Amino acid sequence: MALHFVSKVCVGCGNGFQTSNNSDKCYNCTLDDITHGNPPEEGDFNTARIVSGTLSAQERNYLQQDLESAELGRTTEEDTGDEEEDDDWEYDENEDARLGHEG
Ligand SMILES: [Zn+2]
Repeated sequence: MALHFVSKVCVGCGNGFQTSNNSDKCYNCTLDDITHGNPPEEGDFNTARIVSGTLSAQERNYLQQDLESAELGRTTEEDTGDEEEDDDWEYDENEDARLGHEG
């Protein structure tokens, strides 16, 4: 799918950049907005790319595949180590009996 890029001037830093989604901020300023000056995490780079619309068609396809494989539960990279927590709640019969038969 072809992307339509337009040239804009970033409202944050005044530099010219090309965006496919009419963003007002360039990639760097968008990343700044996301991280608020903190060290960016891996996903922040992708988010900044998407939000600022500076992703090329090829990059977007690549990212799309990445996201799709993640949604399907197929990890293309190393295991993240995420484990689902089992809620081991047990019904207490004694507690119920005590409340129901007082005296
Ligand atoms: Zn900028």
